[in-house]
Amino acid sequence: MNYSELETFLEKKIPYAKIDIIGSSVLRRSIYSVTFDMGHSETVIIQGSIHAREHITTDLIVLQIKEVSENYKKYRAMNMPNIVFVPLVNPDGVELVENGLKSVEGGRKKKFLKSINNGSSDFSLFKANANGVDLNNNFDAKWGSGKYNGLVPAPHGYMGSQPMSEPEVRALAILTIKQRPFFTISYHAKGQEVYYEFFNRPENFRRDKNIAKLVARSLGYKLVNLETESSGGYKDWCVQRLNIPAVTIEVGKDSLSHPIKKDALAQIYKRNRNIIKLLPKILEVYENDRERKVYEKGLERGKEGIRK
Ligand SMILES: [Zn+2]
Repeated sequence: MNYSELETFLEKKIPYAKIDIIGSSVLRRSIYSVTFDMGHSETVIIQGSIHAREHITTDLIVLQIKEVSENYKKYRAMNMPNIVFVPLVNPDGVELVENGLKSVEGGRKKKFLKSINNGSSDFSLFKANANGVDLNNNFDAKWGSGKYNGLVPAPHGYMGSQPMSEPEVRALAILTIKQRPFFTISYHAKGQEVYYEFFNRPENFRRDKNIAKLVARSLGYKLVNLETESSGGYKDWCVQRLNIPAVTIEVGKDSLSHPIKKDALAQIYKRNRNIIKLLPKILEVYENDRERKVYEKGLERGKEGIRK
């Protein structure tokens, strides 16, 4: 789903949802959040399309938004945490993937983007934002230390000039600090895998693994017990800096090619439709094993990262 399709969806009334603009992209497109207040003290954040070519995850989140809206009263009665969806973190990147350089105003920007895209006008495999920064390498979590962190603007892998340099990253980080979620889900594509490790504190490791196991089992996806070879991801930041459990869910079979087309959405949604219903159970695991003090310290560290 591209940016204008998302805006069309958000313009219609979505019962029980509160729509906010949490920031704007390099090219001044809005970054939206959709909040369902369940009257709970705990909150979960679910974000997608931080990587441009993985915008099937926006379609998936829109289906989840519809589902939560339709079942709001039922969910509210079942210890469901508040849910904040950020369906499209990287609007400029997604527009480049979907509509190429005609989505960009200004000759200089067009020239820059073409040059970092190896001279090509085909942006269908692009992951970065309009500065050529890979937003999922730009968070303040062992920034720049990953094996695959790049040093120059590129279609993917460039970590940025400094941690949190990108407006899309700051928007998501500030929302997170404000909402103080107990858990976050980052949707990516592809491979049908779940990641949860990134320098988890030893005292949190069992909790985080148990939660990731629940998620993987509900999806029928593979649980990956290792850290990815990049750093500076949103999940990484949540785990390492905020000390909360967080998962990356890679949707879609590995045999699909990027960008995943809408005809795969039904299958992806079928796998992911139980995730919302699982949230009260995840909250239970979290509450049984929580170190609030550790989390508070983590929030302080998270804020320092944004000020830099
Ligand atoms: Zn990704």
